[in-house]
Amino acid sequence: MSRQDVVDLGASLFTRRLTHGRTGNISVRDGDDILITPTGSSLGALTPDALSVIDRDGEHRAGPRPSKEAFLHLAMYRARPAANAVVHLHSTHAVAVSCLAGLDETNVLPPLTAYYAMRVGALPLLPYHAPGDPALGPLAERAAAASHALLLANHGPHLPAAPRDAHQTSGLGADQGVAADLDSAS
Ligand SMILES: [Zn+2]
Repeated sequence: MSRQDVVDLGASLFTRRLTHGRTGNISVRDGDDILITPTGSSLGALTPDALSVIDRDGEHRAGPRPSKEAFLHLAMYRARPAANAVVHLHSTHAVAVSCLAGLDETNVLPPLTAYYAMRVGALPLLPYHAPGDPALGPLAERAAAASHALLLANHGPHLPAAPRDAHQTSGLGADQGVAADLDSAS
């Protein structure tokens, strides 16, 4: 997945209103490093030469300062070695679901459509932490070992994907109301 692919995916997610303002972040593996969207950036206004480069320990290697949620991406990559991209969004419907009381924390949504069942499967809910709180990292890593999509309580969704599937994954559930935003979730 190239730098231009990250830009194109960000624009697609933003245009579809799956993220908004300066929320959400995208990362992709780049050899031994990881390309990630910069802190404070809008996914609708990314440029190929202004992406952050971090190593697998999260050290900033080049480009602008990385998203403060980079540790969540690193947790996903550690848990899922085959994942080549991670998308985290604050999509409206997914955030709304994440704020509901009485959710089954092991699997938030029922498999209402075939595409949701195929592309998302079980969707665990992780307990609320303030955005950027690294204490969420170990919880995300543990949950991601068993599920490739996570919903962060009172925050938003978090999904890894193979590069060729990133656009599809980011559109998961487009036919399923609430689940449609899961794909878009940053
Ligand atoms: Zn977030």
